[in-house]
Amino acid sequence: MNFWGFKISETRSINYDANERGMAERMEQEAPSSKLCIGCGGCTAGCTAGALTEFNIRRLQMLAKRGEEREARERLGRCMLCGKCLLVCPRGVETRKMILSMMNYIKNNPK
Ligand code: SF4
Ligand code: SF4
Repeated sequence: MNFWGFKISETRSINYDANERGMAERMEQEAPSSKLCIGCGGCTAGCTAGALTEFNIRRLQMLAKRGEEREARERLGRCMLCGKCLLVCPRGVETRKMILSMMNYIKNNPK
């Protein structure tokens, strides 16, 4: 339905029970500090890959935590593992370790 050129977005719901938890569990295990994230976006603002592509590390970890693995898999390969995000995080989240744990998960669980 259109209203003066605008349209209402489709309602989007996330079914946590139906989503895959494997990647999130691996991340929690290998990088427990990922639980400390407050979603401030500092990592995203300074991200090297984010400056060159549409990569967004904050979104990536949100997708993984929600169990939206397919989308997380598609985006993960853009990270250059430079570690810059690690330096700016105010919560001491081991972002690089977090990303590596996701990469390891994908390696062991190819789709
Ligand atoms: S900088 Fe740290 S706390 Fe902020 S969104 Fe990134 S990982 Fe989370
Ligand atoms: S390690 Fe990856 S997510 Fe972190 S700043 Fe570098 S490219 Fe961005």
